Amino acid sequence: MAAVMADSAKVRVENNKLAKRLRRQVGQAIEDYAMIAPGDRVMVCLSGGKDSYTMLDLLMRLRASAPVEFELVAVNLDQKQPDFPADVLPRWCAEQGIEFRQLDQDTYSVVKRVIPEGKTMCSLCSRLRRGALYRYAGEQGFTKIALGHHRDDILATFFLNLFYGGKLKAMPPKLRSDDGRHIVIRPLAYVREADIVEWAAQRSYPIIPCNLCGSQEQLQRKVVRRMLDDWERGHPGRAEQIFAALRNIEPSQLADPQLFDFAGLDEGKGKGHRWLIAAPDEDLA
Ligand code: SF4
Repeated sequence: MAAVMADSAKVRVENNKLAKRLRRQVGQAIEDYAMIAPGDRVMVCLSGGKDSYTMLDLLMRLRASAPVEFELVAVNLDQKQPDFPADVLPRWCAEQGIEFRQLDQDTYSVVKRVIPEGKTMCSLCSRLRRGALYRYAGEQGFTKIALGHHRDDILATFFLNLFYGGKLKAMPPKLRSDDGRHIVIRPLAYVREADIVEWAAQRSYPIIPCNLCGSQEQLQRKVVRRMLDDWERGHPGRAEQIFAALRNIEPSQLADPQLFDFAGLDEGKGKGHRWLIAAPDEDLA
């Protein structure tokens, strides 16, 4: 009996530690990137996955003691995937006392029509979802759009761009959308996926799977995720180290002349000469 009580006390302590860590990391990210300003109307995109539940839940907890007043509204897009349980999210939000809005747009049929059988549909599906949600945010005057991407999504995107796109580019914690009309924030930017998995289990969120459409995760993303997991198992702390590097960039030690003025290092003395013109009869062999 005593052993059982000791065990449950230990579990409680661990759970508390996790709750505090998540709160601290989300608060820190919001502060570091000035994600939320006084009077903001934040549209929280709630898909029904563990990440978006965690984001909304933590934002609600933080709002209670936040240094500024802001509004939170959960918004879900019903993409008309087969068997989407449209009652789950409104019920959960009502229980939590959070305003909820449901949008409907049949992106599922569009994706099914356009993408050949057997190919991954996620890229087009996400683009259409983003378009619908951003449009709604504009119409409704939301000042921020919150997405539930976490630290490991950011790292996976970084390596995808590095390995397959030839770019040093990740997924920023805060950005202005391409059309310039929206500010997108990612309050879970500092949070590890493993912590979200544990937290979501503790909180028993009614998870709606993101594979009702029958689509598979893109192969390249799978490969990168597996690589990151293997690294983390073999070298604990490596993912954190790489994420720290994303926050600590030295443009002068890379090789992008758009990012750092290499030409200007010697007051631009080497500028303006065209070196790419070979002499007409020059033998370059
Ligand atoms: S798994 Fe299905 S619903 Fe989720 S992003 Fe991919 S295509 Fe869209």
